[in-house]
Amino acid sequence: MIKTLKGKINLIYLVLVLLIAVVGITASFNLYNLSKAIDGLMIANYKSISAANNMIDAIERQDSAVLIYISVDSSKGKALFADRNEEFLKWYNVTANNITEKGEKELVLAIKASYNNYVRLFFDLQEIRSREGISKAVDFYNNRMMSDFINTKNILKQLCILNEKSMFNSKYSATKNSNNSMYIVLGLSIFAIISGYTISRFFSNKFLMPVTMLTKTMRLIKAGDMNQQANIISRDEIGELAEEFNNMTKRLQQYEQSTRGNILAEENKSNVIVKNISDPIVVVDMNYRIVMLNHAFEKVFGVIEKNVINKNFIGAVRNKEIFDFISSAIDSDVDTKQKIFTVNSNKEYNFYNVVVATAKDSNDNLSRTIVVFQNVTQLKELEKIRTDFIATISHEFKTPLTSIIMGADMLNDESVGVLNEEQQQFVNAIKEDSDRLAKLVNDLLELTRIESGKAVYKFQKYSINSIIECAVQPFYNLAAQNSVYLHYEPDNSLPMVYVDFEKITWVLNNLITNAIKYTGSGDEICISAVYESNKVYVTVKDTGTGIPEDYLEKIFEKYVQVRDSDFEVRGTGLGLAVVKEIIAAHNGVIWCESKLGVGSSFKFTLEVDSFDVDEK
Ligand code: ADP
Repeated sequence: MIKTLKGKINLIYLVLVLLIAVVGITASFNLYNLSKAIDGLMIANYKSISAANNMIDAIERQDSAVLIYISVDSSKGKALFADRNEEFLKWYNVTANNITEKGEKELVLAIKASYNNYVRLFFDLQEIRSREGISKAVDFYNNRMMSDFINTKNILKQLCILNEKSMFNSKYSATKNSNNSMYIVLGLSIFAIISGYTISRFFSNKFLMPVTMLTKTMRLIKAGDMNQQANIISRDEIGELAEEFNNMTKRLQQYEQSTRGNILAEENKSNVIVKNISDPIVVVDMNYRIVMLNHAFEKVFGVIEKNVINKNFIGAVRNKEIFDFISSAIDSDVDTKQKIFTVNSNKEYNFYNVVVATAKDSNDNLSRTIVVFQNVTQLKELEKIRTDFIATISHEFKTPLTSIIMGADMLNDESVGVLNEEQQQFVNAIKEDSDRLAKLVNDLLELTRIESGKAVYKFQKYSINSIIECAVQPFYNLAAQNSVYLHYEPDNSLPMVYVDFEKITWVLNNLITNAIKYTGSGDEICISAVYESNKVYVTVKDTGTGIPEDYLEKIFEKYVQVRDSDFEVRGTGLGLAVVKEIIAAHNGVIWCESKLGVGSSFKFTLEVDSFDVDEK
């Protein structure tokens, strides 16, 4: 029994080759027989017929020679007879050596006997002519020789007929043979084609069946059914392949089980960690259903895991503000978002920095949202103490500062007496420093008010042109004094904005003050506003000193100023921090684009009044 696939394929090839060989050998054998038959037909019989005809011709000439001998010229007749005798014997020898047919030998012997008798009688005739004269010789010829002459000729004709018959028989058998060979070769060819097709069909199906089954099993495994095993139905190479495949799936199964086990163990570990983290944590799915929460969350929000799991967040926690924040964080395209909320738990108010992080699956679709509540109550309290302290100090500074500034102004005006140059210089220095201190105090008070949430915003719809004009107006003189070209081209097509007029004016004041501070003679300050993507973009652009790239974000932090040896520090470092807070309170953003030595552009966005946009 052949075991290998290679051996089986070779065997089929061998069978097919044998079939072809049988057809080929049979065809060759038949062709050989046919050629042999034609050979017999063409050569042997033809040779005998030709020889017989030549002998008839020779004996007929001999007969004429006898008549010449008798009646015309005896010596010429004798010579002619002898000559033809040689010819006759030559062809006789050919015939005698070419006996191929049954009865041919007897005919040849009869020819020999009859011819010998005829030749002997010619000698007798010669005797009679010389002894008894021509007329007796003629009688002898007519009565004796003539019958042998005719007899010999007849036997020769019989020989011809015998060979002709044989030729016909050979032709008939050759035709029969060729027809038979044709049918045999045709039959064998049809047999070879049918059996070759059947064998190859049968065996290819048989050999490919395990491959088909293996492919089916592979598909099932690919679909996730790791318990599938391929059937081993042959012991050949495909059988080996199936066996190796089964070993591989077993290994995969083991690997999957161990990986799953590891994952489960890791999951349990992280579950334990998450459950015991002191910050409240909750995980929701795409439909805001709670899929996981920890002990701290249960405690802070007064819920029990088994009662809220798989329930909607808002139904379980009942805090609409936080829920809205989570859904806005999911809707926005950022990965994490955070905001501080107050949460009332066990009759105690606490501040929580709510951090919302979204997790995506392998197809980049949102799968889970993790919400962490960082308790920042203590930080908030510290912040409040700090803010209150700064506010108190600033407030306490304000009254004496006002008196100092007033005093300095009075001294400066010389309303209390004339000052000498040195005294004037001291007074100027006092005035400058007190002004700076007053600005710092004002900025600090503003900032603490905003940060503590005490700042009150009066949102209304205004034309942005009116706000900008109101903010720019007081600076035209100052800019002109510094030889700076300050300009603003109002655009009346802009929609109304929904803002606190005073706060946005304050923002613009600050930005224009900065622009004037950091520009010099011949520079330009341009204020503009455009409407784009449902927002108004306001820009304060100057051609001043510019800001180094690494400061572009930092300048919006408190007390950050660009340290540059070429410029004396001329501010408090608080203005932009306040500006940023105010813009954020308007749901806008502010940023700066700048190039050193070329100038800076401060841009911020404002929300438009939706009704106004709809009307347009
Ligand atoms: P300050 O009272 O110091 O101006 P700000 O918060 O308003 O405080 O500005 C912070 C820093 O940003 C400034 O000290 C200055 O270095 C830089 N800055 C602000 N505006 C400009 C401007 N238009 N051109 C160049 N630098 C500027």
